[in-house]
Amino acid sequence: MANTFELRVVTPEGEVLQEDVEFVLVPGEDGELGFLPNHAPLIAGINTGVLRYNVNGGKKKIALSGGFVEVADNQATILADTAEKGEMIDLDRAIAAKDRAEKRLSLKAEETDIKRAEFALRRALARISAAEK
Ligand code: ATP
Repeated sequence: MANTFELRVVTPEGEVLQEDVEFVLVPGEDGELGFLPNHAPLIAGINTGVLRYNVNGGKKKIALSGGFVEVADNQATILADTAEKGEMIDLDRAIAAKDRAEKRLSLKAEETDIKRAEFALRRALARISAAEK
């Protein structure tokens, strides 16, 4: 039996990753979802967070903002609004986005769109976490 399966990460901007991997941990809507080769077919929603995967004995991370994961035929496909490989993340930009969102949330101004600021904060935190080695 194969000890790898194909992981694809796709956004409206294009394909971010297509690689044969050993293990994937996805931030599912109801908690983390782990996949090994030959997993049963599944479709699930994903949260903004960090996808982790193992390849050639090493561990890697991708920051995701919400979407879906589909597993079928020894292939896991992630469709996300945005996705960045850890090494591609502009950490200063993510920290600036986090600071901006936190400031908006702490000011509690009437015109603040709280949900929007919370989502921005979540995206920034996911990027900061995925950028860490
Ligand atoms: P910002 O306020 O910094 O733009 P954002 O959360 O509003 O952050 P998004 O709308 O989620 O940004 O993403 C817009 C585009 O920029 C996407 O293509 C996304 O992959 C990319 N992107 C956002 N933040 C970063 C980052 N820190 N490093 C690399 N790419 C990023």
